[in-house]
Amino acid sequence: MLSGGSRLCYDHAVFVIADRPPYADPHGSTMPILKIAMFPDDETVLRTRARPVLKITPGTRRLIEDMYDTMRHAAGVGLAAPQVYVSQRIFVYDVGNGPEALINPEILQASGDELAEEGCLSIPRLHGDVPRATRVVVSGLNSRGRRVRIEADEFLSRVFQHEIDHLNGVLFIDKVIKSTLHWITPEQEARRREAAYEDTGYDADDRDVAPSGAGEPAALV
Ligand SMILES: [Zn+2]
Repeated sequence: MLSGGSRLCYDHAVFVIADRPPYADPHGSTMPILKIAMFPDDETVLRTRARPVLKITPGTRRLIEDMYDTMRHAAGVGLAAPQVYVSQRIFVYDVGNGPEALINPEILQASGDELAEEGCLSIPRLHGDVPRATRVVVSGLNSRGRRVRIEADEFLSRVFQHEIDHLNGVLFIDKVIKSTLHWITPEQEARRREAAYEDTGYDADDRDVAPSGAGEPAALV
């Protein structure tokens, strides 16, 4: 846990994928944590439409494993490759059933509409209500290169839509109901991450956010 509980884990994520220097985690972990691109400083990569993955290589699999660790370390429920400076159509997610990846995902069907609060690992502490389809059918390749077709509703559907937007250079602030945008304090964000994190079923020992009090779960992806 970080001292004071007011700084979030991505503040010390100092690793970039290009050269992969040894990562000195203050907690002694050896997880290869990737640096998360931040808006607006890293707007170029966050606003670029990512390229399709033409071939799944050992490097692709290594990237996905590192993205799992990075997502877990940041207590996120989803993370798209452009958020770690890799402009490829890959995202990872975990809503409680273990981490998975989708490569070259496509939304085949979308139905219903609902409004719920979202945040983004690349835009810390800014939250707002985003309209999304209630249910989506998504196809793509999983981390083993198998073509999958996933019917998702509610929270998973929202995560998929948020992450696929990232692959198209679209951020939640583009779709948010502007009047609902609000900043939360680092302490509130830590609590919300905690709540979302608990929903994912991660091992509590691996978390790196301040566990205190209850917060409204929000999609922090
Ligand atoms: Zn995001």
